[in-house]
Amino acid sequence: PSQPGAAVERRGLGPLARLAPDPVKVVLNWGRRYSLWCFNFGLACCAIEFIAASMAKHDFIRMGVIPFAPGPRQADLMIVSGTVTDKMAPAVKRLYEQMPEPKYVISFGACSNSGGPYWDSYSVTKGVDQIIPVDVYVPGCPPRPEALLQGILKLQEKIARESLAERYGDSVPAPATPAATGA
Ligand code: SF4
Repeated sequence: PSQPGAAVERRGLGPLARLAPDPVKVVLNWGRRYSLWCFNFGLACCAIEFIAASMAKHDFIRMGVIPFAPGPRQADLMIVSGTVTDKMAPAVKRLYEQMPEPKYVISFGACSNSGGPYWDSYSVTKGVDQIIPVDVYVPGCPPRPEALLQGILKLQEKIARESLAERYGDSVPAPATPAATGA
């Protein structure tokens, strides 16, 4: 039986096929990682550092991250920056569920990573990963804007290696709808 790579060779994609066994995956991942519409979930002081990272000095737009998506339905990336309280946690989860697949989460700062200075508070969720999956954790209280840039680079490295088939198995993700998310 002929190999998939041989078919690619016949279509004139030989050099690309040698560089990347799955050129379609490479191209899709390239597009995905450099067009990350970002939904900022600013909950406390760390959100100020997020805003600083998006402004002219650090300018994470040059890295392919577009800040301030109009809402979760237009976003690929949620950056949770600040203290997640138990009262706010259901709203964070609801908005995450409204984002279309594939979607990514960066937890920015000690509070959203683990509760931070409020680790023993009765009202604080001890890490946003208790309610939604997190792709990259950025440590610090608060982390500097450069740390967020590093976190974005880590996420982009992860997306570059990603196989959506492995991420979702055989199931094709359904688009988020108001009925599906209860909005
Ligand atoms: Fe504020 Fe520190 Fe918590 Fe960030 S990690 S929200 S700076 S207390």
